[in-house]
Amino acid sequence: MGNTLKQKRILVAGGAGFIGSHLCDALLGQGHEVVCLDNFLTGARQNIDPLENHPGFSLVQADITDPLPSMGNFDEIYNLASAASPPKYQKDPVHTMMTGVVGTNNLLELAAANAARFLQASTSEIYGDPLVHPQPEDYLGNVNCTGPRACYDEAKRAGETLSFDYLRRGSIDARVVRIFNTYGPRMQADDGRIVSNLITQALRGEQLTIYGTGQQTRSFCYVDDLVRGIIALMQIDANPKTPVNLGNPGEFTINELADLVMARVPAAGPVVYNPLPQDDPQKRQPDISKAKTLLGWEPRVPLVEGLEPTIAYFALELGIHWMPAMN
Ligand code: NAD
Ligand code: UDP
Repeated sequence: MGNTLKQKRILVAGGAGFIGSHLCDALLGQGHEVVCLDNFLTGARQNIDPLENHPGFSLVQADITDPLPSMGNFDEIYNLASAASPPKYQKDPVHTMMTGVVGTNNLLELAAANAARFLQASTSEIYGDPLVHPQPEDYLGNVNCTGPRACYDEAKRAGETLSFDYLRRGSIDARVVRIFNTYGPRMQADDGRIVSNLITQALRGEQLTIYGTGQQTRSFCYVDDLVRGIIALMQIDANPKTPVNLGNPGEFTINELADLVMARVPAAGPVVYNPLPQDDPQKRQPDISKAKTLLGWEPRVPLVEGLEPTIAYFALELGIHWMPAMN
């Protein structure tokens, strides 16, 4: 952890998004200077409003698929820029693909020009609808390259390829994190992912929409745990030269998640079952052995604990009174 002591100048692409804004907070908290680059496609100014007057923070509004503006030199670049919610990334699939390929290449070139360390936010989606369970990093995945999710999955796979090509040719110190489903405050209420959908529906007293039978599984990681892991991967001295899974191995069916939400939000309407979207993965659970060994990292916040601050956040956002149940 030697280089954590030196103040660094860091670019966070996608820094106005859900995870990116928490990452900006954490890096500023370590005393670094942070430049947040974002096109506000799915991010929100509100996520970074509290940082506006921080002397170490600045914002650049730009799209990473365009030639990048001049921003000075960086010691580190984190690339989190990409819509992550299926309805959002499928809205303009070509732009999603270009963000993962052209945008990642633009940032890798910037890292090479700056001799900056680079971290690519990849995803469990690169495993597709997995035939191996739980998923270790050496599982090569099962992605339908022509389906509606491919614009995201294949863009993220290409982003990994580019990162490892730059690393192999010795241009930069690139690292790749495969993030599994992450939730917490600052997800957008209209984001479309399961945690934000169920909580906002429950708070509004609406029906909870479950796609398919609800027997499909996901493993949900609280955002603070994830950000701690991302920074640990960036800050270890030796490049692991392998992607690293980060996620919470606690695996839940979507029905179980809905039950947990309903137990905490009494106003919740009943569950309604809608058709399952094409290529929706049936199960997903990270094998985090590598993160444990390389980073000494494991999640600390179980789903039942992380739901509470998340519900409280959405209640405040929606202006709905909500009190956590007394134990
Ligand atoms: P998010 O949508 O909240 O944040 C993404 C941010 O990137 C937004 O602020 C958006 O405006 C910005 N962005 C998108 N395209 C851009 C472009 N072309 N140029 C500049 N900015 C752009 O999503 P998130 O959940 O915070 O995800 C952050 C990163 O982590 C993404 O790369 C995502 O693929 C990855 N990830 C997230 C999860 C998860 O469960 N949240 C899981 C796996 C991977
Ligand atoms: N899902 C659901 N209802 C919703 C939103 C999503 O049942 O309102 C399901 C979705 O079909 C998937 C799971 O919940 O099986 C997780 O979906 P999400 O979009 O959060 O993440 P991803 O599929 O990318 O893991």
